[in-house]
Amino acid sequence: MRVFSASSRQFPDPVVMKADSIRFPFRTPVAVRVRGFAAAAQRLAALALPGQCALCGNLSQGLLCGGCDAQYWNEPRLRCATCALPLAASYLRRDRDDTRAHCAACLESPPAFNDTLALADYRAPLDALAVELKFRARLAAGETFARHLHALFEDSDLPAPDVIVPVPLSRPRLVARGYNQAWAIARPLARLMGVRSDASIVSRVRHTSAQSRLDQEARRRNVASAFAVSGDVRGRHIGVVDDVMTSGATLDALARTLKLAGARRVTNFVALRTPKD
Ligand SMILES: [Zn+2]
Ligand SMILES: [Zn+2]
Repeated sequence: MRVFSASSRQFPDPVVMKADSIRFPFRTPVAVRVRGFAAAAQRLAALALPGQCALCGNLSQGLLCGGCDAQYWNEPRLRCATCALPLAASYLRRDRDDTRAHCAACLESPPAFNDTLALADYRAPLDALAVELKFRARLAAGETFARHLHALFEDSDLPAPDVIVPVPLSRPRLVARGYNQAWAIARPLARLMGVRSDASIVSRVRHTSAQSRLDQEARRRNVASAFAVSGDVRGRHIGVVDDVMTSGATLDALARTLKLAGARRVTNFVALRTPKD
């Protein structure tokens, strides 16, 4: 089995990825640990055939048909500027110059990262794309996420990061899956933004147990010392990419590690955000 991790030069082309996914298909033990993935996978079993839209099953040349592409990406949703949690519209305080809204948790105890951009809530039907990417090595889903994250970034007032990194997988998990799904988003996103991407700056030094089974505090403890920085990040603005953001504990731990190593600013780019912690 080939393992793909470090630099962009080692990243396989889609044909190789596809071949690997055929030899090492859907890994049930991982799937059942991730809440919601099993249900989305069932929907996919009926839909995700070549030449069909990954969401509705209509004939389509691309990953999504024109109808789904137009329908599901433009969700008007007020989100916390820091953690991308969906907020009620009343959160926006119009009497202030700063129109960015923040959730109560981020105001009370700000996480280590500065900002988060998220495309949509983690729920049907878009969760199916995360499954496609994470368990079926369908790289087109990563590229679709990247394209929309780039558009979201262009619409924001956020400064561009100096370098973009994926949330790393632990070595055992990388070996089991054969690729890092966050890197499949990070690399095309960096290309679109004209920013360097580097999967070797941060690594996961501890194999943490599956986050979905833990409560918020346990999640924090679980990932507290999970990451290590090996590149020079001093004074730099780091863009961190992940496919799904749940509690934010993983991204908080990674940002904390980056800042301890001297990073000036951390911006998260996540495809899908769970509506509640
Ligand atoms: Zn469709
Ligand atoms: Zn927040």
